Amino acid sequence: MSWYDRAGRPLPWRERPSVYGTWISEIMLQQTTVAAVVPRWHEFLRCFPDVGSLAAAEEAEVLNAWSGLGYYRRARQLHAAAKTIVITLDGRLPVDEAGWSALPGIGAYTAGAIASIGLGETVPAVDTNVVRVLSRLVCHTANEAASLTSASVRILATALVDLQRPGDWNQALMDLGAGVCTTAVPECSACPLAGQCRAEAGGEPETIPPARSRPRPIKGHWSLLVARAPGGLLVALPQAPPALLENTGEELRHDYGSLYRGYRSLPFGAWSAEPGDAVDNWTQWWLRLGGAWSEPPRDAGMFRHAITRYRLQARVVAGSVCGWPGGAVPEGVVVVSEAELKDLPLNTPSLRAFELAIGNQDPNQ
Ligand code: SF4
Repeated sequence: MSWYDRAGRPLPWRERPSVYGTWISEIMLQQTTVAAVVPRWHEFLRCFPDVGSLAAAEEAEVLNAWSGLGYYRRARQLHAAAKTIVITLDGRLPVDEAGWSALPGIGAYTAGAIASIGLGETVPAVDTNVVRVLSRLVCHTANEAASLTSASVRILATALVDLQRPGDWNQALMDLGAGVCTTAVPECSACPLAGQCRAEAGGEPETIPPARSRPRPIKGHWSLLVARAPGGLLVALPQAPPALLENTGEELRHDYGSLYRGYRSLPFGAWSAEPGDAVDNWTQWWLRLGGAWSEPPRDAGMFRHAITRYRLQARVVAGSVCGWPGGAVPEGVVVVSEAELKDLPLNTPSLRAFELAIGNQDPNQ
C-alpha cells in the first residue's frame, strides 16, 4: 500500500471517487487504454452526469458520446444497465458486488472493481494485470503457472485483499501489473514484491503466465464512399441496405453490421484497397443504381483500421452525386448536412473516412 501511495497512477476517477464515475471508467477501460479513456470519461460525465440522465438518453446519444472508444457493445450494455437500475432499483445504484454482477455487461472483474473501489467492499478485482502479478508471485516457472486455474488465482486474490483499503489494494495490483510487472519486461528491481516473488527467484518472470494462443486475425480491404448529394452526405445503416454494401461477402457484411449496430455508416464495400479498383467500383455501383455523378469519384486516401479480429486497410473514395435515382431515398439511408453529422452516431471508419476526404479537399470548393 505504501508503494501505491507513492507510485499509483493519478487518474481523474480516483481524485473524487464516486460509484457512478467508477462504473463508467471501468466499462470504458475494458479493452481501451487509459490514455484514450481519460478525455472521453470527462466528456461522457458532462453529457450524462448520473444514472438517471444516462437511462433517459436515446441510444443514439449514448453511442455518439462513446464514438471512437470502440467495442460499442459496451455502450449499449451500459445504457441497458442504467435503464435496469432506474426501472428495477428506482434509480439507486447497487450497493454490493452481487448487485452489480446482476446488471448487463458487468462481469466478475468489473463488479469487483466497482464494489471495492466505489463501495469499499472487501472483494478482489481480477483482471489480466492482476492474474500476471499473482501468477508470478506464487510460481517459479511457466510449467508451474500452466497448472494455475482462474479459480485458484481468484482464491488467492480474495485472500490477499486489504481489509482497510480494498479498492486501493486492487488498484495497486492493477497499477503494478500495468507499469512494473509488465508482460514482456518486468522491472523486478523497482517492484515492491521483489524478494518475495517466486518468478523473480526463478529467473524468467517474463515467461509467466504462459502465453495463450490468440485467434488468427482476419485481414481485409474495405472501401468507404464520401458521397455529397443535394442537401448533404449519403449515410446508411450499416446492417441494412444491400445497395450500399455492394459486393460485400456475407460474413464481413454480417460482422460489419454487428460491430457497428446502432451506428450510421458511409456507403461501405469490401473491395480491393487499390485506388483505381475502389474508384471504379463506386463509379459503376452508382451508375448501376441508375444514378449520375455531378463530380466524378476520386481517390481520397487510405487508412488502416483494427477492430476485434479484423485488421483492415480502408480506401476512401469521394465524389458528388445527383439526387437519388428515382427520387425516393431507400429505407435505412439518410442524407445529412455536415452540421448534422456531429449529432449522428457515425462509426469510427466513417468518421476517419470523412476526415480524410474533407482534409484532402480544396477548402474553396
Ligand atoms: S518481482 Fe518481478 S516478477 Fe515478481 S511481481 Fe515484481 S515485477 Fe513481477
